[in-house]
Amino acid sequence: MAEAVSKKGKLIVISGPSGVGKGTICAEVCRRLPSVYINVSATTRPKAASEVNGREYWFVSAAEFEGLKKDGKLLEYAEVFGNMYGTPREGVDRALSEGKTVILEIDVQGGRSVKSVYPEAVSIFILPPDTKELERRLEGRGRETIEAAQRRLQKAGKEMGEAEKFYDYKVVNDNLEKAIQRVIGIISNIDGEKR
Ligand code: ADP
Ligand code: 5GP
Repeated sequence: MAEAVSKKGKLIVISGPSGVGKGTICAEVCRRLPSVYINVSATTRPKAASEVNGREYWFVSAAEFEGLKKDGKLLEYAEVFGNMYGTPREGVDRALSEGKTVILEIDVQGGRSVKSVYPEAVSIFILPPDTKELERRLEGRGRETIEAAQRRLQKAGKEMGEAEKFYDYKVVNDNLEKAIQRVIGIISNIDGEKR
């Protein structure tokens, strides 16, 4: 579910299977393009030891998440891997009204919600070079248990099939630098061809 937002800046949705490199790419794009604002989502997922509240996510309780939903504070939300994830609208509205490019790093359900109320949003799906490499990255990151990593891999195939249908751009994250350049190209409107 999503509601309309102010439309001055550009809204970019970035999705892709867990472990494909979305966070790595987005952080680097943000570092290189000062006009880009990466929105921090709220989640009921437990915080990993390497994560900081307010940096990767706002880590909230289920009751707090319900409160955000009820008060209309979320632009979209979805259940992913048994936890709730949502996009707080306040920072997005503010950054868009300042003319910034806003990146939402959200799942395919969220991407669909945002597109339905904001068709001008540009959507980018990040793909791994192959499934084995995705598995290596996910397990190499070591954030989840092996079982949780396997659940994430199972979702990957389904998401990649769905993404083919409605994402504007697909970017294969094989060489990291090339993937960063491609995303920067899309955001900067240099890359006019949809692929
Ligand atoms: P996501 O945010 O999509 O879940 P991350 O950004 O956390 O994924 O990346 C998962 C792991 O893959 C990290 O350890 C990251 O350093 C690594 N990684 C990202 N891009 C590449 C790449 N092109 N080649 C090799 N490893 C990569
Ligand atoms: P992770 O737990 O690995 O950080 O994220 C799991 C999944 O949730 C990823 O696919 C990520 O893109 C998605 N996600 C993160 N924040 C949001 C959000 O605010 N809304 C939605 N719909 N998905 C999100």
